[in-house]
Amino acid sequence: MKKALISGASRGIGAACAKALAAGGFDVVINYRESRQAAETLARALGGTAIGADVSDGAAVAQMFREAGAVDALVCNAGIALQKLFTDTTPQEWRRLFAVNVDGTYNLIQAALPHMIHEKYGRIVVISSVWGVHGASCEAAYSASKAALIGLTRALAKELGPSGITVNCVCPGVIDTDMNAHLDAETLEALAGDTPLCRLGTPEEVAETVAFLCSPRAGFVTGQIIGVDGGFGV
Ligand code: NAP
Repeated sequence: MKKALISGASRGIGAACAKALAAGGFDVVINYRESRQAAETLARALGGTAIGADVSDGAAVAQMFREAGAVDALVCNAGIALQKLFTDTTPQEWRRLFAVNVDGTYNLIQAALPHMIHEKYGRIVVISSVWGVHGASCEAAYSASKAALIGLTRALAKELGPSGITVNCVCPGVIDTDMNAHLDAETLEALAGDTPLCRLGTPEEVAETVAFLCSPRAGFVTGQIIGVDGGFGV
């Protein structure tokens, strides 16, 4: 049975990815940072394992992989957002955004690669955002961190292709999760209005694409930046 590790899988898009991958036959490792109970409940339901680690901490990620064992598919999903004017963004906030969203992805991929390279097989999916492609006002740090993941995806797809490893990036549009729970009804309505499909997306809709990219069916797909955004970027 192939094993998949999904970072930030206690809630939202990550939890939906864990469910979709388990349904696709993967033994799933559910990473969390704070939501231990939710992660353990989900792991029990899916017959998988929950392991806590802050992805920004390289040593914690390495320890998580020692516990999890080798993985065949990796979904780098854990992420944080920040809505603030660029001029109000402190160096500490900027660095934390990059520590989780970018360094976290670095830590996860570094830990997963030795086994994948040895096996000459692997599936890596990085979760970026439409804001990483288009940029969002008052989300410069977040947009910049998510744009970095797009560059990383393209570069790694070239570097790891000869090792039989695919690397793809999924860019969700506005998805109905805790990350957007602080937005008022008017803002959510405006965001839905900017989306050609006239609504927010669901975590399950993102997970469908992630599960496809992790499956054998996506064997000739690599280096792609795929919007699951209701047409937001069109
Ligand atoms: P969410 O509901 O806020 O959930 C975030 C998840 O990430 C939680 O499971 C959380 O774990 C985990 N996490 C946060 N910081 C972590 C850390 N340092 N180490 C390990 N886990 C950490 O977010 P979401 O909406 O599902 O978003 C998931 C991903 O999709 C993020 O990368 C986000 O940027 C991206 N995205 C979301 C949207 C959207 O509209 N929702 C749009 C585009 C892209 P704990 O609860 O255990 O701390």
